[in-house]
Amino acid sequence: MFLIVLVLLILAGIGAAIASGKGRNPWGWFALCFLFFLPAFIVLLFLPNIKKQELENSKQCPECAERVLKEAMTCKHCSYKFSGNEKIASSADKSVNESLGI
Ligand SMILES: [Zn+2]
Repeated sequence: MFLIVLVLLILAGIGAAIASGKGRNPWGWFALCFLFFLPAFIVLLFLPNIKKQELENSKQCPECAERVLKEAMTCKHCSYKFSGNEKIASSADKSVNESLGI
């Protein structure tokens, strides 16, 4: 019995690590993977990466370096007006992409 619980804890930890990498709540997924390992693990593998989606749907303000929606014409943090034809990707975007392995 102890061995089964130990194996489930380890597998739940793996599930939590995968969930964290996809921008999901690691503690919630740890509990789900511990209680329902196989169904929860299968669902987790097919869930999209939240961090990647947020990066794709946002751009970085050149004035304050905060991220705003891609469609935004004005930065909500500093009121910078986007012209619409400026270069969106910056060195900060590249470093974020590299950290995500994109
Ligand atoms: Zn700004």
